[in-house]
Amino acid sequence: MTTSANGNNTYRPDAIIVGAGIAGMQSALDLADQGLQVLLVERESSIGGHMIALAKVFPTLDCASCITAPKMSASAHHDNIRIMVNTEVQAIRTVRGTHHVKLLRKATYVNFDKCIGCRLCEYACDSEYPDPFEAGLGARRAIAVPFTNAIPQKAVLNPELCTTCGSCARVCPTDAIEYDQQSEVVEIETDAVVVASGFALNSLNIKPQYNALQSKNIISALTMERLLAPHGPYGRVLRPSDGKIPSSVAFVQCAGSRDVSIGVPYCSRVCCMYAIKQAMLLSGALPIADITIYYMDIRAFGKGYEQFYQNAKAMGINFVRGKVARIDPIEDGDLNLHVETTEDAENILQEHHHDLVVLAQGMVPEWNPSLSTPVAVASDGFVATPMLTAPTSTTANGIFVAGVASGPKDIVDTIAEAGAAAMQVSQYLYQKRAAQEHVAGPVLVG
Ligand SMILES: Cc1cc2nc3c(=O)[nH]c(=O)nc-3n(C[C@H](O)[C@H](O)[C@H](O)COP(=O)(O)OP(=O)(O)OC[C@H]3O[C@@H](n4cnc5c(N)ncnc54)[C@H](O)[C@@H]3O)c2cc1C
Ligand code: SF4
Ligand code: SF4
Ligand code: SF4
Repeated sequence: MTTSANGNNTYRPDAIIVGAGIAGMQSALDLADQGLQVLLVERESSIGGHMIALAKVFPTLDCASCITAPKMSASAHHDNIRIMVNTEVQAIRTVRGTHHVKLLRKATYVNFDKCIGCRLCEYACDSEYPDPFEAGLGARRAIAVPFTNAIPQKAVLNPELCTTCGSCARVCPTDAIEYDQQSEVVEIETDAVVVASGFALNSLNIKPQYNALQSKNIISALTMERLLAPHGPYGRVLRPSDGKIPSSVAFVQCAGSRDVSIGVPYCSRVCCMYAIKQAMLLSGALPIADITIYYMDIRAFGKGYEQFYQNAKAMGINFVRGKVARIDPIEDGDLNLHVETTEDAENILQEHHHDLVVLAQGMVPEWNPSLSTPVAVASDGFVATPMLTAPTSTTANGIFVAGVASGPKDIVDTIAEAGAAAMQVSQYLYQKRAAQEHVAGPVLVG
């Protein structure tokens, strides 16, 4: 359905979902299928969240975009779902059971009602910057449709990179470009909210002893996902510094989690599994490369995950139990890893040489606790879920949570939680409206 809700006060969805990653889309679809009207709000230019950028998913090694794209399309075409992209939830104020959700609708400088996604503006633009979808490895024009399977397929202009040359407006066949568009704040009322705001990875440089700022060949796991993706920035796995085909790749686990010194004492839960997945995919892409995973423990917690781990070992991936203490860039863009192992009592301090290193950064929450909302966060910064028996309930009545917004988890658990949150919302609305009917006479439900 439409991507340009106008925020006028006649529009009052039954529920607002904050974030259109896999959690938000699943909750929206489950609610919409029950006949409820849903507003799905996403601050980026496309729905899809992190999952649309992954290469394949553990433990099945299914193509990630083949699973995510149909959910994106179903959300966009559902009669009961309205989508707002480039829109950030900034505050939630609850007054007598009604949530007033304050949204910042960021200027895109393109009229979405007119844009037909033809990309002529993109081809005409000479200004480029590192493409955020490709983890900064490819280039994006200052005006561009965000990526091939983005939804919506609408161009967005980046004002910080635009030289105001006017070329895009000259070639646009529908006069969609509006250089004078302004951001606006709108407030929309609703009865229920699902927080599905997901996660970010902590900084690549959070552990300065890994010297990530000194070498382009110390990369994030999300960068490796794009290198492995069939339509990634290079079309194959190459070293970012010099385009060399890597011959020895290291995965450094717990590189931003389980570490009180950086304020992330918890386990990020998915990084053991995605490192194993990436190592398996790499051994297919680079059959003669050595691949080593340096780990403290392997946490293979889900269904089929232990077998997945055993399969990786059988494929010849090296597992070294120990902690990487330091990484030093050396000659030719290569890297020296100082490792404290627990496997060899005679040789505890070891040095290993690699030409590409992937850091398993920690998952940190995207939900900003300083936002003015009634939703409390726990000591780890993720949305607090005080009821053990209702893990998608928050501290606020009528506001629920799904996916990584409440703590690190994999896609399977995220989808299960998104369904549970939708169920809680519909139960909550039913009870709320039944109570209103009891007090004030008949009220339509749904
Ligand atoms: C490198 C890597 C590889 C992985 N591989 C796998 C795998 O193979 N298998 C697996 O099961 N799991 C994997 N995972 C985990 C998986 O990515 C997550 O489980 C899943 O993406 C969580 O989805 P989500 O919707 O909760 O969060 P996200 O995907 O983070 O979606 C949240 C959305 O909310 C939006 N948002 C945030 N705040 C606001 C706001 N205030 N207003 C509006 N919008 C907002 C964000 O822009 C984002 O689009 C991997 C994770 C990483 C880091
Ligand atoms: S006006 Fe800006 S966005 Fe348009 S073509 Fe010129 S530099 Fe690119
Ligand atoms: S803004 Fe114009 S030129 Fe660019 S994609 Fe949209 S319709 Fe095409
Ligand atoms: S999932 Fe593995 S790599 Fe990630 S924090 Fe937990 S133990 Fe460390």
